Parts: sequence; structure tokens; C-alpha cells
Amino acid sequence: MASLKTSAEIGAMAEAGRRLAEVLSLLAAEVRPGVATMHFEELGRKLIRERGAEPAFLGYRPHWSERSYPYALCVSLNDTVVHGRPGAYVIREGDLVKLDLGVKYGGWYVDAACTVGAGRITPEAQKLITATKTALERAIEETRPGRTLGDIGWAIEQVARRAGFSVARSLTGHGIGRELHEEPSVLNVGRRGKGEELTPGMVLAIEPMIVAGQGEVKERKDESVATADGSLAAHFEHTVAITKQGPRILTAP
Ligand code: MG
Repeated sequence: MASLKTSAEIGAMAEAGRRLAEVLSLLAAEVRPGVATMHFEELGRKLIRERGAEPAFLGYRPHWSERSYPYALCVSLNDTVVHGRPGAYVIREGDLVKLDLGVKYGGWYVDAACTVGAGRITPEAQKLITATKTALERAIEETRPGRTLGDIGWAIEQVARRAGFSVARSLTGHGIGRELHEEPSVLNVGRRGKGEELTPGMVLAIEPMIVAGQGEVKERKDESVATADGSLAAHFEHTVAITKQGPRILTAP
């Protein structure tokens, strides 16, 4: 069961989300060849602190892991779908850089991600970015009272398939609020009209992860998740509240 938020609580989450959106867009603007991925971690921590917020991933131990995560940010490159770690790697021309960031502010968690190409990228990489962004937009259109979790997954899967891509298997979005990961899981596949009905007060982190290849993924030793076939992956995420009037994107500037 999803925990429902009042409109005042959704307003408080939007305050957190505005801060996250500002930080994420400042980080995205720094993506270019020659920049080490640790730069985003260092700058991200500073920008989060300046806004009176806390990094949500730093020290967080997800239920699937035995260890807590040592960074504020996930930086995933090329065939890495999610959970890539910032480090000494220096970004090269053509890299697909995924930035995934959670923050906590006023006791509320919010979560968002984006994919940015470094310098000139291939037409296929651009098409993948566009499809994944479109998938998130279409999913958000479904995020309204009377629709279902299946409608969200269906919308994402349709966009991926029509572009000739696949949804990364077994990776999902999630409810969010007082905890970073709450019920329900938000699958990136689904059947129209099936699954839990969406009701006002639900807040979901919707995060299509779309790959150019077949969709199977593997976990690496450092707990990052990559495509099994080495194909490129893209990821976009927003934290979205369901209101009587429709979807409200909380991680927008
Ligand atoms: Mg998330």
C-alpha cells in the first residue's frame, strides 16, 4: 500500500524537489569531455549543502545491498544503467552520462535523474536519450486519478518499443516520501488498466531506464547495473505527485 500525502505534505516535497532540480540541472550543465566523474560528486555535495538539504544516497543501504552507498550521486556511463559510482574516470567525447540524485529536505525525500551526452554523440545515442525522455513524459501523463500502475508501465514500454529499444529488465521506480524507497514498485512495463489504481496523495519516483539492445542487465562487483549485451542505456526520473487535478512534477525547477 502506498502512503498517501496531504496537499501540504506534497507542497513540502515540492520544496525539496525544487532544490534537487536546481542541483541536477547545474550538474548536467557540467557534463563535457575532460571532466572527471568525481567532479559531479564534489560539486553536488556543495550545491546540496548550500540549499540546506542533505544528500539522500550518501550512507543509504538499499534493501538489495549489504553495504551502504558511499556517495551522494550515482554517475553511470554508457552501458551502465544505474548505480554507477563517481571516481577518477574522465569523461570522453561521445559518452552518455547518467546523473541520478536523491535529496532530503524538511524530512522529505525526492529523487530525479537525467542523461546527458558529452560533446558529439552518435545519432543512435541521441535517439535513445529522446525516447527515454519521451517515455517519462508519456508516463507522467498517465499519472492521474483513475489510471493504474499498469498504465504507467504500458506507456513507457510503448515508447521504448516504437523506437526499436527495450526497457531494462528488473529495474523499477518506487513510491517516495518520508522514506527514499516506499511502496509501490513502479514497473517500466505493464498492461493498460491493470495493477494498483492511482489515487490523489500518492507520490511516485517514475524512472524509465531504456536500452538500445535486448534489456537483460547484469550487476557488477561495485553494484552498478549494466546491460548484459553492452548496449547503451539512458535514464530519466522525476518525483511526481498525483493530485485531483492530475500529475504534479515535484522535481521541476
Ligand atoms: Mg529512484
